[in-house]
Amino acid sequence: MILPLIRTRLLFSNATKGISRQTILNHIPRPTTTTRRFASLPGFPRPTGYPQPQRQRFGSNDGYERFESSRQAFYKSKRLWVFVGTGTVLFGGYYVTHLETVPLSGRLRFMDVTPRQEEAMARQAYSEVMAQFGNRILPSFHPDTRFVAKVAKRIVKVSGMDNLEWEFHVIDSPEPNAFVLPGGKVFVFTGILPIVKNEDGMAAVLGHEIAHQLARHSAEKLSFAKVILAFQITLMLFGIDPTYIFNQLALNFVISKPFSRKCETEADAIGLQLMAQACYNPEEAVNMWKRMEKSGHGDIPQFMSTHPSHRNRVDFLEKEMPKALAKRSSSDCTTELKDFADMFSSLWER
Ligand SMILES: [Zn+2]
Repeated sequence: MILPLIRTRLLFSNATKGISRQTILNHIPRPTTTTRRFASLPGFPRPTGYPQPQRQRFGSNDGYERFESSRQAFYKSKRLWVFVGTGTVLFGGYYVTHLETVPLSGRLRFMDVTPRQEEAMARQAYSEVMAQFGNRILPSFHPDTRFVAKVAKRIVKVSGMDNLEWEFHVIDSPEPNAFVLPGGKVFVFTGILPIVKNEDGMAAVLGHEIAHQLARHSAEKLSFAKVILAFQITLMLFGIDPTYIFNQLALNFVISKPFSRKCETEADAIGLQLMAQACYNPEEAVNMWKRMEKSGHGDIPQFMSTHPSHRNRVDFLEKEMPKALAKRSSSDCTTELKDFADMFSSLWER
């Protein structure tokens, strides 16, 4: 028992030594900002015997000070500004030369994905969807598949894009939904069929999906993502963490969702024209969305959604209706609308 006691006393005495030195240091008044400022003036006698201001303590020979000055130099570096300036001019030029106008809506957009790149993207997306839904796809002889194929054939014909390898699949799933993959692969869920109700209603759904393809909305979304990425990289060059500006919430609610809704509205407008050109009753598009609203499916507040609310969709389609009805009465219902096809063909040139 004796030995440990001696050790404890020794430890205690060492500890008190340390504390008392620290206590003394703590009792010496530290220089305030004002005294520090005066202390650095030439000729002002620097008091000795207590800690120096931090910047003085890490002298220029110290690695820490060098690191600090090199960080400042990074922001002030001429080379960085030349680099960023050149980058901005080059990207600005690239951006401007890759702007195009979407026919019908007249919307100006940035597009730098070629149809060939889109094809590669399409193959990837197709295999992913097939892996997920492949075993639930109804056979081609199934009445539902034949119903969808019949309407699709008429709309594809007037779209002027019958050279594309279109595929129309029906997935046996209660979800009232439909989607299109780049490359013209359209998937319709059986859950939407009771809401679609008739051929005109189906034409409204398919017209919308085919319109996404015609206007190359998937390629546009990819191009848009590249612009966001370029901006994020520029922020990082300046040492700004892009997540402060582009946090998930801001990215979703301020940029991505309104952008998606714009594409949806555009697809509604083009789709309505397509179904009218194919001599389906465009007014059934309004009825179909009213039935969707009644079914209570998927109507979340518009600002939270990638799609316009059902009510806004109905209002928009009703506004577009006179043009659609005029198109329907002037259409011979069978021949491809040449000027319509020509309008969109420019988007597929590169
Ligand atoms: Zn859509």
